[in-house]
Amino acid sequence: MTDTAPESGAVFLGEYKIKRIAVMELLGLTAVELGKKIATKEVPVREALDAVYTRMDAVEEKYHCYITQNREKAYEEAVQIQARIDAGELRGPLAGVPVAIKDNLCTEGLMTTCASKILYNFVPAYTATAVKKLQEAGAVIPGKTNMDEFAMGSTTETSAFGVTKNPWDASRVPGGSSGGSAAAVAAGECWYALGSDTGGSIRQPAAHCGVVGIKPTYGTVSRYGLVAYASSMDQIGPLAKDVTDAATVLEIISGCDAKDSTSIQRKNTQFTKALVEDVRGLKIGIPREYFGDGLDPEVAAAVKKAAEELKAAGAVVEEFDIPLVEYAIPAYYTIADAEASSNLERFDGIKYGYRAGDYKDLHDMYKKTRSEGFGPEVKRRIMLGVFVLSSGYYDAYYLKALKVRTLIKKAFDDAFAKYDVILGPVAPTTAPKLGESLSDPLKMYLSDVYTVSANLAGLPAISLPCGRDHNGLPIGLQLIADCFREDVLIRTAYTYEKIRGKQ
Ligand code: GLN
Repeated sequence: MTDTAPESGAVFLGEYKIKRIAVMELLGLTAVELGKKIATKEVPVREALDAVYTRMDAVEEKYHCYITQNREKAYEEAVQIQARIDAGELRGPLAGVPVAIKDNLCTEGLMTTCASKILYNFVPAYTATAVKKLQEAGAVIPGKTNMDEFAMGSTTETSAFGVTKNPWDASRVPGGSSGGSAAAVAAGECWYALGSDTGGSIRQPAAHCGVVGIKPTYGTVSRYGLVAYASSMDQIGPLAKDVTDAATVLEIISGCDAKDSTSIQRKNTQFTKALVEDVRGLKIGIPREYFGDGLDPEVAAAVKKAAEELKAAGAVVEEFDIPLVEYAIPAYYTIADAEASSNLERFDGIKYGYRAGDYKDLHDMYKKTRSEGFGPEVKRRIMLGVFVLSSGYYDAYYLKALKVRTLIKKAFDDAFAKYDVILGPVAPTTAPKLGESLSDPLKMYLSDVYTVSANLAGLPAISLPCGRDHNGLPIGLQLIADCFREDVLIRTAYTYEKIRGKQ
């Protein structure tokens, strides 16, 4: 069993009270464990879905992990999937296991809002490749999860549909932008979830909610059907209860896709083969710069302790200096906002989504639609993005940021010439209180300092729990590997998880 939020075991389950034990037992399983029970017919798919909705009925009002629930269709799908399992057609490890999907992943016939008013009624005509791959493997979708509007934020507070609360402490944020997905897994409102990570949006909420999240090497998972934020950095990945679940999901969703020209044909995507408990001889580097000012001492201590434990298990652990850390945030926000300003041009009130009710002419319609449809954080990013791309400023900001990006990539290349894994924190603090970050966007941007470099350089990275602070809040450990080396990440994370499990 992995960490579950403290309130998981003590909930009122309404009319399902009689089934309480069975439901809580089911919800306590990992996705792979549940998959096994479904495969052996011990648990019908329908019952797994019942458990999710029972749990949602009990706690969704409190945590608000989902934007859209998919009850009717999910039960129809469950019947079909059950039939295919019974017929022996579906044999994968996650056949029949429900998955929560972040609301920036298109799902045919199921509302996809990106947590924005501008897409409040958007029902896509197609399904994102990553979601489709899960469906082909037998996944059922109980609902779409809350997020920061267009994945812009670190707390899930910029959603136009209200905030998600952290299941470990409902007065705190779950992190973001995939906060609904992370909180749904932590609150037992689903077994696993998909998120997207442009600058930390899988890893950071995973850390704040005490779950495991993987941001794969850029190009590993098709972005087809993912509503673009910053296309050169966006990647889809799993949020799960443990490393085994996360590796299993990643194996299913990865693969080259003709519909995404940046997706890569790569061979070593059998990630579950890397679930090996052995770090002997592995070289782990810890950047000294990651432990400077601004890092909460309790987070620093937990991360250092994890490094010591890996060392005791046979890894070679060394501190080293990585240059340019202070430029990662400005480079990231310059590039991400530039790309966002271009990507978000398509939301003009013509083709889909919200359209202002009262306008004089076409331009007035555009203006009013976008003014009313986008929230303040999205507008801030569009303005900044348009500014850094404008003539006269392009060279000074955007081009310079691209150069910094290249240098950061080079710094990591140099580091990976010496180390297999880079180990550090995910976020400077544990989950902040609700409302704390919104008043100071710059401070919020700075909290991404440890995560954005992996996106700028296209590297794979994992976040997994490594302890709690004095308030009992989860602390995340981040491991970063060289491109295409998820296997090393998974092996290290799996070994560490085993060490922790024995404590
Ligand atoms: N917090 C970062 C941002 O707001 C990262 C978001 C993400 O990864 N989608 O841009």
